[in-house]
Amino acid sequence: MTFLTHLACSKCNTACPAGRIYNLCTACGGPLLVHYDLARARAGWRRETIPQGPGTMWRYAPLLPVSKPESIVSLGEGMTPLVSTPRLGKKLGADCLFVKDESLNPTGTFKARGLSCAVSMAKELGVRELAIPSAGNAASALAAYAAAAGMPAHIFMPRDVPASNFIECKMFGAEVTLVDGLISDCARLVAERAPANGWFDVSTLKEPYRIEGKKTMGLELAEQLGWKLPGAIFYPTGGGVGIIGMWKAFQEMEQLGWIGKERPKMIVVQVEGCQPVVRAFEQGAAQSEFWQNAATVASGLRVPKPLGDFLILDAVRSSGGTCVAVSDQELLDGGQLLAQTEGLFVAPEGAACIAALEKLLRNGFLKKDETIVIYNTGSGLKYLESYGTRFEVEDAAEARMGGLVLPR
Ligand SMILES: *Cc1c(COP(=O)(O)O)cnc(C)c1O
Ligand SMILES: [Zn+2]
Repeated sequence: MTFLTHLACSKCNTACPAGRIYNLCTACGGPLLVHYDLARARAGWRRETIPQGPGTMWRYAPLLPVSKPESIVSLGEGMTPLVSTPRLGKKLGADCLFVKDESLNPTGTFKARGLSCAVSMAKELGVRELAIPSAGNAASALAAYAAAAGMPAHIFMPRDVPASNFIECKMFGAEVTLVDGLISDCARLVAERAPANGWFDVSTLKEPYRIEGKKTMGLELAEQLGWKLPGAIFYPTGGGVGIIGMWKAFQEMEQLGWIGKERPKMIVVQVEGCQPVVRAFEQGAAQSEFWQNAATVASGLRVPKPLGDFLILDAVRSSGGTCVAVSDQELLDGGQLLAQTEGLFVAPEGAACIAALEKLLRNGFLKKDETIVIYNTGSGLKYLESYGTRFEVEDAAEARMGGLVLPR
């Protein structure tokens, strides 16, 4: 069912045979990428047959790494709607605006795609226990898929993650360690403890298959637009797995003969309180520098130094895209505008893209008639503490009746 051939390092090109358990490249520490026999796929797989497959991201199984169907751990992830948002478009001056609404995934975020793929591969390769450092949503998704696979999950997340993430992980039966620090501190703890305990570390990009799951966001977008790509894609970037994955999907689809050479402008959206990729882009640097004192309500964007920064920057630059940072106030305003005009209650990360779109339309980087797709990566319902603060002054009594009690 898969056209998988091997893995290779994104930095030094060292090849690694498939069928074994990997984290980073053992030669240089770079992230590994998965390769397929695209010539054979081109000859033997027709895109016209895709709609006959499952209504999940597993309809693209030939371009995913799992070799046995019984390894697949699925909760119905993917095939999220591409919602046309003309009322918001009219307000902002964009004639052809869509939101790819990832909030409909299991556990309410697109993290489900990556972790469905990673947990399926872990199961296929005989991994027994899983561990993850997470800013929140990856933890919830890992906990869910580990539960569905019957595997123990060990989770390390910052003490100030949204309450929903903590509660979900506990509900799914994961072992949760709250850390006084950032995702980078959680990552250090997992790296220290995983080897002795026999845990497999599914950290962003330290595990090669999460990218493959997230790349299906790019495949789906092309399928939903009739095998065309839009003029621009807004992506709220933390670790950047989604952008790296979609960029990879576009290259693979071109080699399959499904699309041509043209690419959307890839637009990285970050927040003023944590914008290492924006800074590197502005300085013309190939890599980012660790962002000190990262702080934002968009917890998924609180990644001070993405491991795949060089891949993100390469995709942005070769697509003719750009990088934009917005403030927490601007993104919450953007989220409320989207909710009020279109009935979509999105995560602060997705909301950041609305604020970024306003900026790029205003400064003329984007034109009115371009097809623009915004990725809303998660549900606003997972961030009630952040959005709730908007109404405390006016409706203090009601807010209190909401009874938000954080697990401390
Ligand atoms: C993790 C996360 C992001 C960032 O995703 P990357 O692909 O790692 O950049 C954005 N939004 C939400 C809601 C997230 O959970
Ligand atoms: Zn390498």
